[in-house]
Parts: sequence; structure tokens; C-alpha cells
Amino acid sequence: MSQPDQPSGTADIPARATAGYISEYGEPPAGRWAAPGRVNLIGEHTDYNDGFVLPFALPQQTVVAATGTGEPGWTVWSEQSGERIEFDLDDVSEPGRVKGWGAYVAGTVWALRDAGFDVPGARMAIASDVPLGAGLSSSAALESAVLTALADLGGLDLPVDDRPGLAQRAENRYVGIPSGIMDQSASIRCQGGHALFLDCRTLAVEQIPFDLDSAGLTILVVDSRAPHQHVTGEYRARRAACEEGARSLGVPALRDVPIDELDAALARLDDPMIQRRVRHIVTENQRVLDTVELLRAGRVREIGPLLTASHVSMRDDFEITVAEVDVAVEAALAAGAYGARMTGGGFGGCVLALVDTERVEAVATAVADAYAERGFTAPHSWPVLPTPGAHRLP
Ligand code: ADP
Ligand code: MG
Repeated sequence: MSQPDQPSGTADIPARATAGYISEYGEPPAGRWAAPGRVNLIGEHTDYNDGFVLPFALPQQTVVAATGTGEPGWTVWSEQSGERIEFDLDDVSEPGRVKGWGAYVAGTVWALRDAGFDVPGARMAIASDVPLGAGLSSSAALESAVLTALADLGGLDLPVDDRPGLAQRAENRYVGIPSGIMDQSASIRCQGGHALFLDCRTLAVEQIPFDLDSAGLTILVVDSRAPHQHVTGEYRARRAACEEGARSLGVPALRDVPIDELDAALARLDDPMIQRRVRHIVTENQRVLDTVELLRAGRVREIGPLLTASHVSMRDDFEITVAEVDVAVEAALAAGAYGARMTGGGFGGCVLALVDTERVEAVATAVADAYAERGFTAPHSWPVLPTPGAHRLP
């Protein structure tokens, strides 16, 4: 709880974006737009199985201070990179021309233009306290903030329903990262005090009340800081195993295996590894549905065991956890968390724990002590509440 470099989630990010803008361009920006990072409450690796996810937006956010220039061309400075880059119409005529972090910004312009929008030229300055590469989706926060800013500056007729898909296209096609629709949906569509129930087959979304505050509860996020290794290869292998499972069972996707037919389905699979992968996906989808039911009924504390069961399933059946996240989960539970799980694709990243607000400090300390005992890099922990998605700042 006391690490100086943990995300702050405070209001100084807009001020830093403004200060950066003034120092780069010598005048105040026309406006500022914010988009948050996200954490997935439950529903891991279900997205590409046409299943369910339940993310909520974090207090950590990316802010774009921007002004339209009236000329085609874009200049972007980011505090995180310490760099100012420029790109023109030619650079957004096809994917891949701008590299590095600027690709997320250029990709957003490309995706909008490719969808037929007349994107305004702009100067931008970006500040953020979403940790980069920790699995909290700084990339979607960046795309979503830029997209929201450009849509407003250009007066683009762009319904909110269509925005996540465009931001996702920027990442998939321009940056070249094959990620699902969850991150951009969360960063753009989340509401304060709610989690976003997303059906990855139909893309239907529903706001689910997730009122931690009045239940005296907090989600503690722990960045395990475990080195990410073999992530891309392991992700591909999990997708392939799920596809093989669906093929063997004769269903379009594992989402189509009903939970009460799981045992019969598993009996039809020969490979024990495929059986485990299928069991994770089918039970995980059910855990999302059960979590949604409990939250709809205001029974927030009772989702704890579902979170922990999700972790056990990722650890034993999907085999995507590492020692650091397992230790964080165990230490949090031993210190009184109602439930805890790794969140994100796996092999590192973050853990979330549902705790009584008054126990936040004690749980964070217990995790830090468990890490110190094992000689792991000290974790970063901070409490979060569900916050609103992308919006213009006053
Ligand atoms: P995650 O989305 O989990 O944080 P990614 O690898 O998907 O991790 O995205 C991180 C990348 O996004 C960074 O390496 C950088 O290129 C880009 N990025 C995100 N936020 C910023 C920012 N505020 N400034 C510059 N680049 C950023
Ligand atoms: Mg990302």
C-alpha cells in the first residue's frame, strides 16, 4: 500500500496532461478527454470461446489534452514515453506505418478514417497512471481516450456502441495485436459503480450494479510484477486447445456446452489436457453468470467463493498461473479476503481480492510479506472502485 510508484488514481493526471500540452505547444488545449484502464472481475479466456466477461473500469486513467488544427496531420506527446511524434495522412493510409507507442494513436486515426470518418487533424498531449503492460489495459485506455477526443473535436456522428469495435480494430489491424473486444468495451462503456456484463458472441452489454462502497467492500488490485514469459505462445496454445475441444464436441464454440452436460462432454474427450481446458471454459462461463446473478441481487460479498474458484480453475485446469499470482491469492485469502483470483490472460499480471475496506491495508501487507519471504520482487497493491468509462473532462 505504501509503494511510492504504485498507480495513484488521482486527479493530477488531467493536470499533467494540461501541463504537458502547454509546455509542448505553448498554449492551453481546447479540451481534455479521459479513458480508464480496466480489470476483469471474472471470466478469463472466455472471450474467444464466444462466452461471457465482467470487467469494470479503474480509477487509473489516460488523459488526452487536445486541440483540432484544421489541417490533416497529428502531433502527439506522451509523458510516459517522454517523446513527441508526428504523423500525416500517408502514415494512416494503411496499417503498420507508424511503429512503437505511436501506432496505438495512428491506428485509432486509421480505423476511424477506414470507417469513413473525416478525422480532424490535432495536437495532443497524453498523461496516464494506468501501468503499462501490467494487464490493466493501458493500450485500450490510450486508444479509447484518443478516439473519444477525436470524435468530439471533429463532431463525428459515432454512436457509443460502435466505438469499442473501432478502437479494437486499431489494435488488431494497425498495431497488429490480436486482442478481444473486452478491453475497449470496458474503457468506453463502463459506468461508475457497475461492472460491464459482456456477451462476447452477441456483443450485448448490460450494466450490472457493483456497489462495493455501500457494502463496505473494496477490490484490492495486486500487480504481481512477475516477468511475463512465453505469453504469446501459451495464449495461442490455449486458443488451439479450446478450438480442438469445440471441434471434438461438435459445437461452434465452447460457450455452447451447457454446464449440466459438462460431465457427458468430458467423457467424450480422450485427451486429458483438452478435458481440463474445456472444463475451465465451461465452468468459468457459469461462474460469470452466477456472479452476475448475485450482483443483481446485491449480494456482493457472496461472489468471493466464485472468484477463488475461478483462480483454482485457471491454476489447475487452464494452467495459466505462475507462483507469484498463486502466492498473492493464497496470502490474500489467509488474511481474510472473501475471494481472490488472477485477472487477465495469465503468466503474470495482476490479482484482485475482494476485501472489507477496513482490511485493505492488512491484506496488502500480508501479500507483501509473503512475497518477501519467497524472495519475489515486491508487489504493488492499491484499492479500486468501479469508475466511469471514457468521457470529456470539464
Ligand atoms: P496493457 O494494455 O496490458 O497495459 P499492452 O502491451 O497491450 O499492455 O500495451 C502497452 C503499450 O501501450 C505500451 O508499451 C505503449 O506502447 C502503449 N501505451 C499505453 N499507454 C501509453 C501512454 N500513456 N503513453 C505511451 N504509450 C502508451
Ligand atoms: Mg493491452
